[in-house]
Amino acid sequence: MDAISTQAGAIVFVYKDPDGTLSSDCTGCGEYAWTLAADHDFARQHAAECLRRPHPLRLAA
Ligand SMILES: [Zn+2]
Repeated sequence: MDAISTQAGAIVFVYKDPDGTLSSDCTGCGEYAWTLAADHDFARQHAAECLRRPHPLRLAA
């Protein structure tokens, strides 16, 4: 798994699934992508382009 920060402060995660495919999940966009083409370069490119601020998820008190 990898995690790449975007310029807006979100994080693009890259997970490797048990079947060998990769999924990408951006905390700015939400469930961003699931694609056979996802890889670390894909995530890095998205991190460079994504300007969405991260969702507050479940951090709020
Ligand atoms: Zn994004």
